[in-house]
Amino acid sequence: MNDGCIAAVLRAAQVRLVNSDSPRADAEILLAHVIGKPRSYFMAWPEAALSAFEVAAFEALLVRRVAGEPVAYLIGSRGFYGLDLAVSPAVLIPRPETELLVEAALERLPIKPCRIADLGTGSGAIALALASERPDAQVVAVDASPEALVVAQENARNLNLAVDFRLGDWCSGLANERFEMIVSNPPYIRADDAHLAQGDVRFEPTMALASGADGLDAIRAIIACAPQYLSPGGWLLFEHGYDQAEAVAALLCAVGFVAVESLIDLQGHARVTLGQLS
Ligand code: GLN
Repeated sequence: MNDGCIAAVLRAAQVRLVNSDSPRADAEILLAHVIGKPRSYFMAWPEAALSAFEVAAFEALLVRRVAGEPVAYLIGSRGFYGLDLAVSPAVLIPRPETELLVEAALERLPIKPCRIADLGTGSGAIALALASERPDAQVVAVDASPEALVVAQENARNLNLAVDFRLGDWCSGLANERFEMIVSNPPYIRADDAHLAQGDVRFEPTMALASGADGLDAIRAIIACAPQYLSPGGWLLFEHGYDQAEAVAALLCAVGFVAVESLIDLQGHARVTLGQLS
């Protein structure tokens, strides 16, 4: 087996990615991106040689991954709810747990054509997933970052999905209109949380992650403004931190939301809390 063959290159890369949670997967995803083949190719052709150009291009990505840059930013995409989304450092990388929010939203949307708002849309992940599942719905997606909206709009175009993107801070992106549902995966990490300075999140936009001393500033702001944009019986759904369900439920109850409930993600954390305007 020569040094330039796929199996040897992947093995050497894996050893250098000791600080990653998933060294083998990272190496395979980066190499698959460089050579434009699916990961299954490596199983079929471990002895295949790589060109000098491919080895150099892979090495350039590997050095950045070793320094901590997230794989999704290095390859420029991430899968979410069956959609292939473009991502850049202007947007939070969509997380698998956010699919729980999408599922909870889909279960509660009225059968009839309805209006949905996604506040803090980032890459557009939630809005686009909802638009793809409910082509009859009108989806509005708001973000305070013009750079994020460029990415979200590119995703809508690539996926041929109609979402009305607007620049704004939470409800200020909405006009004089009412929605059957407002969803948000806002920033919810405490500003002093040590995790913000560790691992992959260092490369993500702080405005998409951190939200005040207790991490609840954005959620409080949205709960304060959402009722005037919801139809009677309309739903408000949040993703939040693993230890914030009780606080979010209390905030929803305090302004009169009913049917308040928290949902558990695949890791066993209460990750989504929702309520209905009475
Ligand atoms: N779940 C993300 C994390 O812990 C945070 C996402 C968010 O703040 N909305 O890295």
